[in-house]
Amino acid sequence: MNKITNHLPTAELQALDAAHHMHPFTAGAELAKKGARVITAANGVTLTDSDGNQMLDAMAGLWCVNIGYGRKELANVAAAQMEQLPYYNTFFQTTHVPAIALSAKLAELAPAHINNVFYAGSGSEANDTNIRMVRHYWAAKGKPTKTTIISRKNAYHGSTIGGASLGGMSGMHAQGGLPIPGIAYIDQPNWYAEGGDLSPEDFGLERARQLELKIAELGEDNVAAFIAEPVQGAGGVIVPPATYWPEIQRICDAHDILLIADEVICGFGRTGNWFGSQTYDIRPDIMTIAKGLSSGYAPIGGSLISDEIADVVNNAGDFNHGYTYNGHPVSAAVALENLRILQEEKIIETACETTMPYLAEKWHALADHPLIGETNIVGMMGSIVMTPDKSARAPFKSDAGTVGFICREFCFENGLVMRHVGDRMIISPPLVLTTSDVDVLIERAVKSLDQTL
Ligand code: PLP
Repeated sequence: MNKITNHLPTAELQALDAAHHMHPFTAGAELAKKGARVITAANGVTLTDSDGNQMLDAMAGLWCVNIGYGRKELANVAAAQMEQLPYYNTFFQTTHVPAIALSAKLAELAPAHINNVFYAGSGSEANDTNIRMVRHYWAAKGKPTKTTIISRKNAYHGSTIGGASLGGMSGMHAQGGLPIPGIAYIDQPNWYAEGGDLSPEDFGLERARQLELKIAELGEDNVAAFIAEPVQGAGGVIVPPATYWPEIQRICDAHDILLIADEVICGFGRTGNWFGSQTYDIRPDIMTIAKGLSSGYAPIGGSLISDEIADVVNNAGDFNHGYTYNGHPVSAAVALENLRILQEEKIIETACETTMPYLAEKWHALADHPLIGETNIVGMMGSIVMTPDKSARAPFKSDAGTVGFICREFCFENGLVMRHVGDRMIISPPLVLTTSDVDVLIERAVKSLDQTL
């Protein structure tokens, strides 16, 4: 097989895949037994597989196809940029037009005090940048002991050694000798699972104040930053209580701790604003971006850096860090076109006025289903928590994820891509989802939940 073809029968594609392709986050031998589903095409919010089945993609790929599939403008921009300048680096006193234009656009979209971008190829790489950037920043300011970064259990910040260390998932630490030194963790604001008898508001405060306790334990002079997703995504779309973020912001300000908002999922409209930080009124010093930046059409990520940090770092000599594909011209051109479409077509505003409220209403109504203990939704990211006992907020006793896995398989059969995290089913659809798509999504979700019961 020396060219990419959709014309081989599915079984042959699957056999080749099983023989040669190692999948991320997958038990390869198990997958090989049943064969991976081969996705061959996509348009709008709909995926097509190699057998011609169509599915509503309620995950926007991997939380990334914010403008929807099939936008030819992005393909045209990529082709034109490949002809004009397919690659050049930005290491050695050079730059190029796509990186310049994208940086200026991001500075315009970001909060007023953030006007600088350090690019990466992905969200994980960008978080690796952040680890080095904040430590370098404090050292340059004459505070070299401020090195520890505080994160949260069940956070996801990527899969590189640095990104996985920043994340707080035990499974991510289990292989490869992680985490790296200098990362500390506090508990997550997951009220449903961990809130006990506290009200969500009190629980939000309690969890935020763990940050202050951790800073006291480590010593303020040893802490560089706190990192968090505005809404935990891969952890299961865990929406924090309203009291949580204001208290976190107060604590970071009071103790001179940098705040890194990991906007890899929440950025570019997902929560109903350009950035999740705006939805939660957070004032970050650094924002990690990727995914929706290019709507996944080309790999690109980066760190949006405050003027204060950039000023210190830019005046501290060489920053000994970079990637071959920093600000890759084709990816940058695609990202710029993606942002143009998001902005000029008012995709975020339109979603806020139409689909998001409609989706929220229908999503919350799922709470009436006998299997559902909690519903959460912010903008276009949502979760439902399955439980055997609604009143006790009890988890299923079977291995974590079994019920979710079963439900996800029924969803597939019913033409709906939802993901599961333990007992939680989650969605993060393209922002161009329409209200009639919502009806289809909910109908297929209910059918799948009924089958799971
Ligand atoms: N940060 C967050 C919040 C993410 O959700 C992800 C990926 O899902 C990452 C970082 C890592 O991004 P990437 O997979 O592009 O390396």
